[in-house]
Amino acid sequence: MPTLIDTHAHICFDSYDQDREAMMARAFDQGVKKLVHPCCNLEEIDFLLELTKKYDGNNCTNVFTAFGLHPTEIEKWNDDSKSILDARISESLARGEKLKAVGETGLDYYHCKEEHEQKKQKEVFESQIQLAIKYNLPIIVHTRDAWQDTLSILEKFYKDGRDKTNGTIHCFTGDLEFAQSCIQLGFFISWSGVLSYKKNDHFREIASKLDLNRVLIETDCPFLAPQSKRGKRNEPSFVQEVAEILADCYKISVEELGETTSRNAEKLFNI
Ligand SMILES: [Zn+2]
Repeated sequence: MPTLIDTHAHICFDSYDQDREAMMARAFDQGVKKLVHPCCNLEEIDFLLELTKKYDGNNCTNVFTAFGLHPTEIEKWNDDSKSILDARISESLARGEKLKAVGETGLDYYHCKEEHEQKKQKEVFESQIQLAIKYNLPIIVHTRDAWQDTLSILEKFYKDGRDKTNGTIHCFTGDLEFAQSCIQLGFFISWSGVLSYKKNDHFREIASKLDLNRVLIETDCPFLAPQSKRGKRNEPSFVQEVAEILADCYKISVEELGETTSRNAEKLFNI
């Protein structure tokens, strides 16, 4: 059985409140040895930390976390938010907690079409990048229908460096050129269940052309369950299906795919 790392799973969501224990046991049984839990808004932080303590890798999946604010939640970002986030990061790192990234942050022009919302998204994204750089943490980027603006912002803060570990473009849905530009800036490309959907030959085509050493896998659960479970609630154990599809793109075994993407995730997040 392959060893896998789910690099983006929202296990704090209340859709798991009834069976979180069993759901995490299934993940561990399916070879998900580590998992990175991104943060949608600052109110989640205390529960995220609680989960990182509970799931410590001792006969269970080892859970790591990030702190940040999702681009569709920018109404929760006010004048104090940057200093609050700064203080939480600083405190958590000083305590040696399992905080390994800033995010998820980025731009989402699919859900936010108003110009003033997009302007605020850019400001909030830049503020979080500044904190990631300040604390030498990678950034988890959410980007949807905002390719050029995302790239412009990343280029503003990050210099060329294919060997760097600046962050990940989570749940990738861009084109080949965007993927390669991000890799050139020291980012990783993370594939979700979207890669498995029947109509998405174009994503599988892109996946087969990317340097496997710059690629990650994720579920983005509870959203985007892979093809065989489409429409159901997603969960970390289903990352196995993403791994199988991606292994097929590279014509390698799922074990090898799991080994390389796990090594990539360990390098990026220092986990
Ligand atoms: Zn997410």
